[in-house]
Amino acid sequence: MTNKIIVAIDGYSSCGKSTMAKALAQHAGYTYVDTGAMYRAIALYTLRHELAEPAAVIAALPQIEVGFVRINDEQHVTLNGEDVEGQIRTLQVGNRASEVSQIKEVRAFLVAQQQKMGEAKGIVMDGRDIGTVVFPNAELKLFLTASPEVRAERRYKELVDKGEHPDFETVLKDVNERDYRDTHRAESPLRQAPDAIVVDNSNMTKYEQMEVIYGYFDRFQ
Ligand code: C5P
Repeated sequence: MTNKIIVAIDGYSSCGKSTMAKALAQHAGYTYVDTGAMYRAIALYTLRHELAEPAAVIAALPQIEVGFVRINDEQHVTLNGEDVEGQIRTLQVGNRASEVSQIKEVRAFLVAQQQKMGEAKGIVMDGRDIGTVVFPNAELKLFLTASPEVRAERRYKELVDKGEHPDFETVLKDVNERDYRDTHRAESPLRQAPDAIVVDNSNMTKYEQMEVIYGYFDRFQ
């Protein structure tokens, strides 16, 4: 039996982090944790309760419980015990998640839970601050990137598949705005850890990318 490790995957929005993280977790027999879904669940709570001001969001944190359940071999995020997976993948919730994730107390609240989830190692976690803040000592850190246009195209297709009717220029603008917010916020901005391996997947197929990423992981086996 080889030693289990922590794999931290960071990168911009819609660059395929969760697809890669899920595939790697399966390859490794590890638990996958989508931290973006946790920020999205809090965002959904604030939308439902019309909490606009940071102070109101902070005051509500003791009433918010974010968790995960496995349904049909898929991980679903829960908000106070309710499966909200189907409601968090919209542009509106994504934008709100990007806003609430700028609140220091929200980050501390979720980071503490994420660190607990990694105590036993054997975990693949994806987000924006995993290799820098959540697990600065992770054995394997990957930083995924792709051009904004490629990411907007992927996001556009995802939304169409979900039955939404997005406008491509709006999606691209949204990708750029979210990148700006994620990299310029005061609290834990998205940045590449000095020891992270960069994977630019603009011109890679999913399978080419899997091969590269499994290769890095298998060095630890
Ligand atoms: O990855 P996803 O797009 O689902 O994340 C939603 C938002 O949550 C991101 O735009 C980002 O601002 C925030 N986030 C974060 N830190 C993480 C994961 C997500 O700030 N670890």
